[in-house]
Amino acid sequence: MCGVVGVWNNAGGERGQSPLREVDPTDAARVSFFSLYALQHRGQESAGIAATDGRDLRVVRRMGLVGQVFAEPDLLALGGRAAMGHTRYSTTGSSRIENAQPMVVRDEALGELAIGHNGNCINARDVRAQLETEGVEFQTSSDTEVIAKAIVAAPGATWDAKLVHALPTLSGAWSLVILTPRALYAIRDPFGVRPLVVGRKGASLMVASETSALDTVGAEFVRDVLPGEILRIDDAGLTPVADMAADRTGLCVFEHVYLASASSELGGHSVYATRERMGEILAEERPADADVVIPVPDSAIPAAVGYARKSGIPFREGLIKNRYIGRTFIQPSQELRQHSVALKYNALRDVLNGKRVVVVDDSIVRGSTGGPIVQLLRKNGATEVHMRICSPPIRHQCFFGVDMARRDELIASKMEIEGIRSHIGADTLGYLSLDGMIRATGATRKDLCTACFTGDYLVPVQLELTKESLERQRAEGSLQRQSSRSR
Ligand code: 5GP
Ligand code: MG
Repeated sequence: MCGVVGVWNNAGGERGQSPLREVDPTDAARVSFFSLYALQHRGQESAGIAATDGRDLRVVRRMGLVGQVFAEPDLLALGGRAAMGHTRYSTTGSSRIENAQPMVVRDEALGELAIGHNGNCINARDVRAQLETEGVEFQTSSDTEVIAKAIVAAPGATWDAKLVHALPTLSGAWSLVILTPRALYAIRDPFGVRPLVVGRKGASLMVASETSALDTVGAEFVRDVLPGEILRIDDAGLTPVADMAADRTGLCVFEHVYLASASSELGGHSVYATRERMGEILAEERPADADVVIPVPDSAIPAAVGYARKSGIPFREGLIKNRYIGRTFIQPSQELRQHSVALKYNALRDVLNGKRVVVVDDSIVRGSTGGPIVQLLRKNGATEVHMRICSPPIRHQCFFGVDMARRDELIASKMEIEGIRSHIGADTLGYLSLDGMIRATGATRKDLCTACFTGDYLVPVQLELTKESLERQRAEGSLQRQSSRSR
């Protein structure tokens, strides 16, 4: 997961009538900044913006949250008629500044190109190895650099031509936003695993991972970038350059469950309403005799609302989340880390005391938060705790851009539901069925990637692929170089 945005202010629009006047009359970087803010939930490790006034690219990228990365002088220096931004959640390649995006590459004839990527290119190792035999050098462990350099190395006299050549060689998930001094591109992989939308505000066009980023800057939704579409955005407007669509689509169902903001729409459906329906279906499938329904905030709030409505059990908030905690780069001590649930949530004794509690969460991944949450509820007087999960057991690793853990770390790949229940110490545990989850999204199983629940991957995957694999490959490469030198 990651968030990407792009802004193109049409040169034809007169300055004085700039559609972005309310935000800032000339500043594409500032619009990118505010829309990245709206995508902060998609990645908290680093953020960056590239901007252009039609000649060169200027880039600012640092570790940290969007609000920590950019200060006023950065936005003034970036300025620009067009810009793009990225907020990173590390999937391939670890959390380091060299892996921060946008990444800038250069072609001798065509000049610079900045790229921001949401997803995971699963054949990056092979593509990289091939490019290395052609003499291409790599500086980072990120799959985004592989995508960028594959584009530069592809044949073609224009960026359009290079994109059309390079992208079909890549497998996996890639929603890309690309900026050159001449054009902005919005691109989705052939299955459309990660979302990407186009918006408009007056004569300005925007792209963003989610519609919530359009709302934040007052742009209106135009359409989804289609699976497999290469869309060029410049003063001529929107130009589809190529259609690489696969014979099926595969939007990640976990976007509906957890990843996307509840305030976004996915494929025309409100994420909030989908999550409420998941809760309603869960109440039908896994009822409980209880006095109160509470969510694990924030992600499970709509699902708990739906569960309460369908079951007739009152909805209350029983846990308050500290909204400022986020992901911090200051590592807590080992003792504090073991109490991360205590750092994150405070319980409301008045709500819980003497009550039989249904606690709704969106998913169980490693199974490490469930136990401490059940304990916290009991400590605050809950007499029974019925855990309800708004998705099926996660049994399979994600290769398409969610850092969910290796298969052996997924609790449901090792234990049956009764084992998980006893591990977290709940009185009962109930998961939403696969069919119920899919029904709630309004889509069908063949429109969605459900691999983390079903093991049905969109394309064959190498099961040993891990986040650090490109780094290992790089280390092995340098070892080989050293040993051949010493020989
Ligand atoms: P677990 O303790 O089972 O590993 O995590 C479950 C909790 O993590 C749930 O409350 C869910 O909302 C949240 N969660 C699910 N997927 C992700 C993810 O990809 N990243 C993060 N940071 N949290 C997640
Ligand atoms: Mg959660």
